[in-house]
Amino acid sequence: MDQREKAFGWAARDSSGLLSPFSFPLRANGEEDITLKVLYCGVCHTDLSTIKNEWGNAQYPVVPGHEIIGVVTDIGLKVSNFKVGDIAGIGYIAFSCLSCENCSSNFENYCPKLVPSFNGTLPDETTTYGGFSNKITINEHFAVKVPENLPLPGTAPLLCGGITVYCALKNYGLNRPGLHLGVVGLGGLGHLAVKFAKALGIKVSVVSSGGKKEEAMKILGADSFLVRGNSEEIKAAQGTMDGIIDTVPAVHDIVPLIGLLKTHGKLLMVGSPNKPLELPVYPLMSGGKSIGGSMIGGMKDMQEMLNFAGAHHITAEVEVVPMDYVNTAMERLEKGDVRYRFVIDVAKTIEAE
Ligand SMILES: [Zn+2]
Ligand SMILES: [Zn+2]
Repeated sequence: MDQREKAFGWAARDSSGLLSPFSFPLRANGEEDITLKVLYCGVCHTDLSTIKNEWGNAQYPVVPGHEIIGVVTDIGLKVSNFKVGDIAGIGYIAFSCLSCENCSSNFENYCPKLVPSFNGTLPDETTTYGGFSNKITINEHFAVKVPENLPLPGTAPLLCGGITVYCALKNYGLNRPGLHLGVVGLGGLGHLAVKFAKALGIKVSVVSSGGKKEEAMKILGADSFLVRGNSEEIKAAQGTMDGIIDTVPAVHDIVPLIGLLKTHGKLLMVGSPNKPLELPVYPLMSGGKSIGGSMIGGMKDMQEMLNFAGAHHITAEVEVVPMDYVNTAMERLEKGDVRYRFVIDVAKTIEAE
């Protein structure tokens, strides 16, 4: 019986980031664990950065994927929140200490002992392999229940992209009806920020490069669209926004954005440029403005966000692709050639050896 079950996934072996089939022993399902048969997994920019070792922390072989939707196939004796057959979601967190100040205040995402759900090592020394695989075992505390009405492929990106924007708005008090929010960048994070903010009763202006105006307003429901770099449009909107959520994962000029904020406005950074931005201090001082950051969210907020998404029918706009398309998907993601989010149809397209 202690013969460990095998799982099949796709792994990167080196910093070329090329993924290929890989099998590994599935972590045994402990008393507090659940095991999922993975159905769908989103492709997040963090997966790309990790497999290419851009942050120097890759532990090859890396099986990426941390926007995981699956069906529960096994539960430990002490599991109380899930039963076999439930649809569950797993995001970025596979482990946190559950006793530090952050964990005690439901901010497991800021626990210094956090272990990610892929490319990590758990306290029992097992490696975490992510959702680009057919099975995954996790402590039930780090899984959430998926509302029954949500289509599953579009729900996967909520587990990292969705929670990131939801918690940024919530924790900086920018989740109240009647506020005016700017959303900078209209990719995976940005389009979800528009959807959540609209559902919260917020007026939303997208600030992005041209070309997506019609889509932003008609499909996502934004109230207005400002073309980045169009000085007339940007000038006309000076001092009108209570907050801005900036999703751009590259070095960019934030001075024009600070100008869009009202007095005491907040600029929230949720993308992660690989080089430092220039921080202009006087434009902040002269309007009592602030800049903050936010990264994913704790488990209580994860469930709250999913329930909110269920109640307001919020899902990501996705392109569903088979597992063996993943290298092309990564290439396209790197070039920015993706409408919003790739989601891999794992259950239908991973071939067991
Ligand atoms: Zn992510
Ligand atoms: Zn902790």
